[in-house]
Amino acid sequence: MTAFSLGALLYEGKAKRIYATDQDDLVAVEFKDDATAFNALKKAHLAGKGELNCRISALLFEHLIRCGIPTHYLGVVDATWMAVRPVRVIPVEVVVRNVAAGSLCKQLPIAAGTVLEPPLLDLYYKDDALGDPLLTEARLERLGLLTPEQRQRLGDLALQVNGALRSLFARVGLELVDFKIELGFSAEGAIVVADEISPDTCRLWDLQVNDPQDRILDKDRFRQDLGGVVEAYGEVFKRVQGVCPEAGVYR
Ligand code: 5GP
Repeated sequence: MTAFSLGALLYEGKAKRIYATDQDDLVAVEFKDDATAFNALKKAHLAGKGELNCRISALLFEHLIRCGIPTHYLGVVDATWMAVRPVRVIPVEVVVRNVAAGSLCKQLPIAAGTVLEPPLLDLYYKDDALGDPLLTEARLERLGLLTPEQRQRLGDLALQVNGALRSLFARVGLELVDFKIELGFSAEGAIVVADEISPDTCRLWDLQVNDPQDRILDKDRFRQDLGGVVEAYGEVFKRVQGVCPEAGVYR
């Protein structure tokens, strides 16, 4: 790494490590090859996953920025490292659903594959020990994490992200079924998209494939023991790379 020196490890999550650097306005993110599911009850080491998620996230963040959506992203550093602005992460997992899948179908009588129009926005309180519980608007208000204006902005941004990503993925034959993003406050107090956007955090189905298992190109391959996880992520990278400019290297 040439542009900065690494400082202390600030945070280690299930799939990433976040480091301080010698620059106050820059933190470095290392994408790991570790895969976890079901609140880390299921774990594996998947060689190459970290690099693919780093590269896919970079392309998608750059796409969002071109669409006028603010993010923490600054550039890639090398295969598994990304430079980002430090943000105060809002402990809310923001999920947008275009097609019913996953927990929605377990919790409500909605058949898997049902198109959700308009898309459904679900907010979860980010706390592994509590199992990331679904938030109601009243619970969110009670927690006092966001003003009403910030809550509105968070939802607006999530739906903008959905529009930008859904059309990008559709261009490369992928259906964006649902995804989770995390947002944070920048040093200037703006709400920006943070964390990562990758097949770890999105459900992506191959539009050319009808088989309900074969079409899965995301972390559900790991969750459901379908195999071919890294190969599926590689396919997503190849397709997205085909329609996006090369990710900028942070210097
Ligand atoms: P579900 O509610 O079905 O578990 O997840 C909805 C979408 O959000 C899926 O695309 C899923 O990958 C993503 N998602 C929800 N929670 C998490 C999480 O804690 N970690 C990751 N990586 N993705 C999540």
